[in-house]
Amino acid sequence: MTIYNFSAGPAVLPKAVLQQAQAELIDWHGSGMSVMEMSHRGREYMGIHAQAEADLRELLGIPSSYKVLFLQGGAHLQFSMVPLNLLRGKLSADYINTGEWSKKAIEEAKKFSYVNVAASNADRNASYVPALDSWKLDRDAAFVHYTPNETIGGVEFNWVPDVGAVPLVADMSSNIMSRAIDVSRFGLIYAGAQKNIGPAGLTIVIVREDLVGHAPSGLPAMLDYKTHADNGSMYNTPPTYGIYMAGLVFQWLKKNGGIAAMERANTAKANLLYAAIDASNGFYQCPVNKADRSRMNVAFTLKNTGTLKDANLDGDFLKQADARGLLQLKGHRSVGGMRASIYNAMPIEGVQALVGFMNEFANSKG
Ligand SMILES: *Cc1c(COP(=O)(O)O)cnc(C)c1O
Repeated sequence: MTIYNFSAGPAVLPKAVLQQAQAELIDWHGSGMSVMEMSHRGREYMGIHAQAEADLRELLGIPSSYKVLFLQGGAHLQFSMVPLNLLRGKLSADYINTGEWSKKAIEEAKKFSYVNVAASNADRNASYVPALDSWKLDRDAAFVHYTPNETIGGVEFNWVPDVGAVPLVADMSSNIMSRAIDVSRFGLIYAGAQKNIGPAGLTIVIVREDLVGHAPSGLPAMLDYKTHADNGSMYNTPPTYGIYMAGLVFQWLKKNGGIAAMERANTAKANLLYAAIDASNGFYQCPVNKADRSRMNVAFTLKNTGTLKDANLDGDFLKQADARGLLQLKGHRSVGGMRASIYNAMPIEGVQALVGFMNEFANSKG
């Protein structure tokens, strides 16, 4: 049976990448050792590291005036590092609240800064992206932080906000490399790798050079972007194997048409799944405003139908999906329902299999 893994993260990786990693596991390119066992200062690993950065730069078209950092600590550490480094003597930062991850970023930033929540979708249960003309931005804010894709609620921006001269900061953990972006619109982009790039343990930061080097004195070296920028992300031992795996994913992306091809495939996959939900006569429902539905994380609920209220419908759905090899469809514990994460590495066949099952399930219960 073919298994399709719809986990929100850590998430599915391209099979071809896993196979290559397997083939190279014990003896990388005749070096006689695994990448895991190599000195991070050695010629071989340095080559892997440099290639991964070069490929990432090429794929995203990252201008040379931006630093690419390979860090650890996940997106969660960036919730702290962003305000610590980017306040630059200012007192306040603007945050856009579009869901669970925005809220976490906001709570952490409050430890270091006054936070102006310039816009929020909490009034309608985090189900939409607030229109830019409703944002109460502060011209003196140190930066504007937003979450382009809310992994839990399944809400995604399909536009990049124009916030003028104030640096724009984006937590792209769950949609980086899924669609074309103009990096020059951003002051800083960060992403945990485990959704759309590679295994957990690697965090990618893309930061405009002029925003580096303004940390307050006394900030621990590991929390200062400058430490990592000045040392090519090798101030301490980087997550070498995670970077190697990310590098394999970047090569896979290049071989498969790059970001433009991913974006086309992701659009097709998401359209297929949302169309099935919308055509189910309310058996499946997506709570997200149509224009703001995520291409990466498709959240939906099952409706109890007819007179026969079936409290176990969710459980039944998950059990039957599991039996078909459609795994990890349970929604986040904070929102319930279902969530199908369909990142770059999810083939269209996986979405087709899911849609086929969903239609059958709805018919059997309808
Ligand atoms: C998964 C996720 C996080 C948390 O990432 P960690 O690496 O666990 O810290 C933060 N923001 C978004 C948008 C996410 O999807």
